[in-house]
Amino acid sequence: MHIVSLASSSTCGNAYVIWEDSKRPLLIDCGLSIAKLVSGLRSLGITPDDLAGLFLTHEHTDHVRAMCLKTPFPQKFGIPVYASGGFWDWYSTYQCGHLDAELIHLVEDGMTTDIAGYRVRSFLKPHDAREPMGFKIDGSSASVAFVMDLGYVPPSTEQLLRGAEYLVFESNHDLDMEINSGRPKFLIDRVLGEFGHLSNEQAADSLRRLVTASTRQVILAHLSVDCNRPQIAVSTVMEKLQDTPFRPEVTAAPSGILTQFGT
Ligand SMILES: [Zn+2]
Ligand SMILES: [Zn+2]
Repeated sequence: MHIVSLASSSTCGNAYVIWEDSKRPLLIDCGLSIAKLVSGLRSLGITPDDLAGLFLTHEHTDHVRAMCLKTPFPQKFGIPVYASGGFWDWYSTYQCGHLDAELIHLVEDGMTTDIAGYRVRSFLKPHDAREPMGFKIDGSSASVAFVMDLGYVPPSTEQLLRGAEYLVFESNHDLDMEINSGRPKFLIDRVLGEFGHLSNEQAADSLRRLVTASTRQVILAHLSVDCNRPQIAVSTVMEKLQDTPFRPEVTAAPSGILTQFGT
């Protein structure tokens, strides 16, 4: 399973590509300009029309920038888009861009989508967006889960994620750095709230419960540029994993630099 972060933060946007050898790639989120998406894909030897589908987690700009154009990225290249009913309501209400009807596909909490030899399971997340989704993608060689933009990890989600070989998992902020960031109080309250973002501690606590012997790599994602540091996030998680018999590789996705993970 190849997993690539094209970018991973509120500041630089979010977009991830996964593929298995001899299968078409999938894109998760498209929070970059079309030019950056195309050049990132090209550097991997992928052209946009190779993509079998685009899965969208939620409507925040750092995840859907390339949807909010007169001719959105998937319209330009004929890529099917999978998102929740809440997302599509938002998209049509705000007339963010034109997409042909045949490119629009609906996912629901607990639903499985079979696409290009993968099974993609959608699950609802606690976040201040319209029906935000996480995705667990089962391939033939491994599974990868995308768990970002959520205020806490519900037990049902932890249960679902147990056994996944790769976890792209939010570790948004260091609590002290966030509290002392000088940001407006309403913004800090939003980030720390149950529909906000996971702190390093929260991510570590949850990972301690859901990592198993199958877990090969934990890719900490959506790190705040201002209120976190990759080494703090990684060491917080690794410390908590000391309480378990499991030692998966723990790494952090850089904010704005294309980085390859997986195999
Ligand atoms: Zn985000
Ligand atoms: Zn968000």
